[in-house]
Amino acid sequence: MVTAEDFVLKGFDKAGDTNNQLGFNVTQASVMQLPGLNTLGISMVRLDFAAPLGLNPPHTHPRATEILVLIEGTLLVGFITTNNTLISTTLQKGDVFVFPNALVHFQLNIGDVNAVAISALSSQNPGTQQVARTLFGASPPVDPAVLAKAFMIDPKLVQLLQNKFKSSS
Ligand code: MN
Repeated sequence: MVTAEDFVLKGFDKAGDTNNQLGFNVTQASVMQLPGLNTLGISMVRLDFAAPLGLNPPHTHPRATEILVLIEGTLLVGFITTNNTLISTTLQKGDVFVFPNALVHFQLNIGDVNAVAISALSSQNPGTQQVARTLFGASPPVDPAVLAKAFMIDPKLVQLLQNKFKSSS
């Protein structure tokens, strides 16, 4: 049943569309786009960041470690350990950085040109949870009382954030 088509994906030379609120785009090569990855425990993404300040917002991959190589531009990257230590640095073209399995991490374009990175992930289906969207953009919404207490803010501010994510999805 298997053909060569199951093992090839084209287009990673093309920039993703970063004309959005984050100034960011991810092009995926996981098992959904590249069926030949099934059971192999590996996948890849192309990350495009508009200049200035294109952002891959804080997120986790519940099933994968991510290793990133910066092809173009300058990125501020970081992850946060389970004892809340921020591990962060600035990457230049050619630098490689690793985000350990399932930890919250981010990448921000702090240069004056568009940034491009390629990442490999240690799962054919790594999954992504964006922290802000997960909490404030859940459907149905999380009870504002939960988020107000967790973030030590007014429930009205929670509802404001929930409305922002509702209108941007
Ligand atoms: Mn990531």
